[in-house]
Amino acid sequence: MSKNLFVFSAASGAGKTTLMNLVMPNFPNIVYSTSATTRKPRAGEQDGVNYFFKTEEEFKKMIEQNELAEWNVVHKNYYGTPKFFVEQKLAEGRDVAFDLDVFGKVNFDKIYPNAIGILILPPSQTELEKRLRARGTETEETIKIRMENSLKEIEFAETKGKYQYTIYNDDLETAAVKLSEIIGKYSSFKSSSQSGS
Ligand code: 5GP
Repeated sequence: MSKNLFVFSAASGAGKTTLMNLVMPNFPNIVYSTSATTRKPRAGEQDGVNYFFKTEEEFKKMIEQNELAEWNVVHKNYYGTPKFFVEQKLAEGRDVAFDLDVFGKVNFDKIYPNAIGILILPPSQTELEKRLRARGTETEETIKIRMENSLKEIEFAETKGKYQYTIYNDDLETAAVKLSEIIGKYSSFKSSSQSGS
């Protein structure tokens, strides 16, 4: 059976995490790639689960040793996809989902050109700012950085990103149905008698 790679990208605060948490449990064959980052863990985040949290020195060593399928600096922190994780999951016959910024996605495509790109966008910049503030995890400075980056990201994604699908997350339920339909074309939906392996 063919294995699928799904690349999800979004502008900050587009509601990607909420949307993914709603939809992905229905597709048990898809495993999330765990990225490496130099960003500090947020409350509740665990090393090796949400991210592999690295110092800048450790991250740069991973780049030097060619351990990353792609990497980029996002909001002043390094983020990258460890190759061993992708290769291991593909060897196990799993589909793999990646959460990449729009620039990292272009580099990722060079190694995995058949990946399925799904872009998740907020309904408007005003709504995006509102969501970032409501999240309560960002400072004024990071909100400003994320808003500016968001505009650049959207423009780049729409002109160079080569995403097969774009979802506007104005209504969570509607977006979740759309996303499930897209993923369901490639990967099988959880049946009531889910096999455990
Ligand atoms: P956050 O810090 O909110 O978890 O993620 C910030 C940004 O980093 C998001 O846009 C996310 O898509 C991106 N990101 C997370 N992991 C990776 C990665 O492995 N590579 C790249 N290029 N971007 C990533």
